Amino acid sequence: MKFASVIVDVPARQTDRPFDYIIPQRWEDLVQTGMRVVVPFGPRKLQGFVIGIKDTVDVDVNKLKTLHELLDVTPVLNEELLQLGSWLTEETLCFKISAFQVMLPTAIKATYKKQLRLHRPEDVAANVKLLFQGKESIDWNVLDEQPQLYRAVQTEIAKGTVEVVYEVKDKAQKKKQKMIQPVLPYEELEETAFHLKSKKQQDVLYYFMEHYRSVPLKIVLEELQMTDAPIKSLVKKGLLAEKYVEVYRNPYDDDAFERTKPLPLTEEQQQVITPILTSITKEKHETFLLYGVTGSGKTEVYLQSIEEVLRKGKEAIVLVPEISLTPQMVDRFKGRFGSQVAVLHSALSVGEKYDEWRKILRKEVKVVVGARSAIFAPFENLGIIIIDEEHESSYKQEDNPRYHARTVAIRRGEYHNCPVVLGSATPTLESFARAKKGVYELLTMTKRMNERDLPSVEIIDMREELRAGNRSMFSQLLHEKMADRLEKKEQMVLFLNRRGHSTFVMCRDCGYVVQCPHCDISLTYHRMNNRLKCHYCSYEENLPNACPACNSSYIRFFGTGTQKVEEEITKLFPEARVIRMDVDTTSRKGMHEKLLKSFGAGEADILLGTQMIAKGLDFPNITLVGVLTADTMLHLPDFRASEKTYQLLTQVSGRAGRHELPGEVVIQTYTPEHYSVELAKQQQYDTFFEREMYMRKIRQYPPYYYVALVTVSHPEILKAVQVTEKIVGFLRQHCAQQTMILGPVASAIPRIKDRYRYQCMIKYKREPNLKYVLKMVNEHYQAEMQKDLQISIDFNPTMLM
Ligand code: ADP
Ligand code: ZN
Ligand code: ZN
Repeated sequence: MKFASVIVDVPARQTDRPFDYIIPQRWEDLVQTGMRVVVPFGPRKLQGFVIGIKDTVDVDVNKLKTLHELLDVTPVLNEELLQLGSWLTEETLCFKISAFQVMLPTAIKATYKKQLRLHRPEDVAANVKLLFQGKESIDWNVLDEQPQLYRAVQTEIAKGTVEVVYEVKDKAQKKKQKMIQPVLPYEELEETAFHLKSKKQQDVLYYFMEHYRSVPLKIVLEELQMTDAPIKSLVKKGLLAEKYVEVYRNPYDDDAFERTKPLPLTEEQQQVITPILTSITKEKHETFLLYGVTGSGKTEVYLQSIEEVLRKGKEAIVLVPEISLTPQMVDRFKGRFGSQVAVLHSALSVGEKYDEWRKILRKEVKVVVGARSAIFAPFENLGIIIIDEEHESSYKQEDNPRYHARTVAIRRGEYHNCPVVLGSATPTLESFARAKKGVYELLTMTKRMNERDLPSVEIIDMREELRAGNRSMFSQLLHEKMADRLEKKEQMVLFLNRRGHSTFVMCRDCGYVVQCPHCDISLTYHRMNNRLKCHYCSYEENLPNACPACNSSYIRFFGTGTQKVEEEITKLFPEARVIRMDVDTTSRKGMHEKLLKSFGAGEADILLGTQMIAKGLDFPNITLVGVLTADTMLHLPDFRASEKTYQLLTQVSGRAGRHELPGEVVIQTYTPEHYSVELAKQQQYDTFFEREMYMRKIRQYPPYYYVALVTVSHPEILKAVQVTEKIVGFLRQHCAQQTMILGPVASAIPRIKDRYRYQCMIKYKREPNLKYVLKMVNEHYQAEMQKDLQISIDFNPTMLM
């Protein structure tokens, strides 16, 4: 008799261990580790992963239950990924099931309909072919009726002649999409809306005033958060029209990419690529930190390293920060390696992601370019892992399992004996410190291509501007330079921090700020529907006419959102053509690319945007970059605030003067004396590193100390405090004397979705037992965590909110 050890799909402490099941005789040869199965569990039937197969068990066989169903014919997780899953569990203290699931695309996690499809019918054995009865694909359940064919089908799948396809529900709908468009001329929309009785219908027309074109119905409903009834009425009235358009599932058209050839490397590039190539050839794992200023040609180094990997018949993973944000990057990889490249990023639909993942599994592609989760690409013969912009905080997952892609990359690099390359112009302090200590090998590139100078940077003290009577959001100097560029027909980029960051509503008389009644943060003003919205819990309300505190009618939204800046630009420079890029204008798929293309084609003078324009932009005609407020980052409650400010300012400045025309940067700030601002101006990373390391040392932060954050949340404030207090006491008892345990304190955001949040921060140098101790905390509160209590544990947190 054979037994399977199964991890069941219940993310809870009690079930976070393997359970044994009897493998029915007819499946004995079929079940493999890494397959998903359905098992009886109490009164229920649950999904699970087989993590081991054995001949004996320690318990009474008569008490064991039997596997109920096989969900896969071949494993979805190979041996390496199963091991990686166990390691993740230990590293992040997550449940085993969460670790396995994070490695798989959503489509196969859900219970989608499964089908068998003929891939190369001519090579399929006769008995299996018969099963298809002349059809191209058949329902998976057919196998239940013919279990004797399981084995044969398994063989075909291994050969690649038959494949298992998860029919993703959205696919059918995606094929054709309902679009809604206004019928009336633009000028008549407002007037018509004014006379409508239904508020909802009015909102729809106002929406189309802002988006005067055809918009997918789904998007309209999502953005307005309503049912389709008002739209139907408007269609009936003849004010709106609907039509269906085809939607294409392959997000990238491989023929559309212009093929490129390797460039002859510069001396510096040659120097840094040599040790990487050696590591590839000798199949020796090593971690490199490629520290190269923006524009020094790091990407070309990546491309040529990958080329060597492909020549050896191996595979490559390239992580880039949230790839939809850098379509130019995709072009560069597709341009060099064509259809050998799969792209994985969060903007793809469930179905598209699954398609790309399948290409990897079927070995149709050799290179994956993707965001964080692409680190789990199921390649079996990795030759290199590259993480571009390694300092990006999006490489850390802020949800269970709270892993950092860099750590996973190094783990996989060790397994595959291949190099890991971390690239950045502004490495994290942690990585640079490791490179200096020789844990990573430091590779440096100091020259920009063609020895172009870094742009000149001016820092403007906005307090001075105010004193001089300038109340505009543009300083005198920036204003002049903008006018100059407009006249010369050169392009410029204006950079503003995160959307909604300062678009809160404030009473100018008494200073009252409108806050969310459920979370202690200010509500964000949305002009589109004149409402206030909470960005944590989605609570919404109307803009008040009078101040709730002092009844003054002088209550307005404050500060500078991108829309506000756009309005101001239009006022100052009516002739300027502006493209605004923020979460609002790019939420629709493909918009990001579209706006960038249009800017690249010279269809606008000014690109105005948030974070998302700080990276990857490479247009020859940009000669001016303006940072409207450098301070917003600096005042976050986070020990990395200076580092983040430095990184951001450097990235943004790097956008100017990348080509023949020289570039200028203007940074506006209320704290010009801060070293992260000053040193970003001079692009003195090494000096910044020394300064910041010194601060970290005296304040006892990473990389000198490790940090772990325990966050406790509960609907009752008292309970949250009590539990955090108990945890603090327990930790004090069990941790080393030098370890600092800070807390309990309210989190930076003390309440989210009506749950109070308290935290305790642990700073330690050596604490080998910490994971064990925190596991005990988890176990202790196990029962309460089934109810209202939540405890989250984050090692090396990147967000301290
Ligand atoms: P980074 O990634 O370091 O910011 P890029 O790889 O984007 O730099 O390179 C900057 C520019 O220099 C790009 O336009 C790129 O095509 C060009 N470039 C890179 N390497 C070479 C080379 N060896 N010869 C000529 N041009 C190059
Ligand atoms: Zn007031
Ligand atoms: Zn809220």
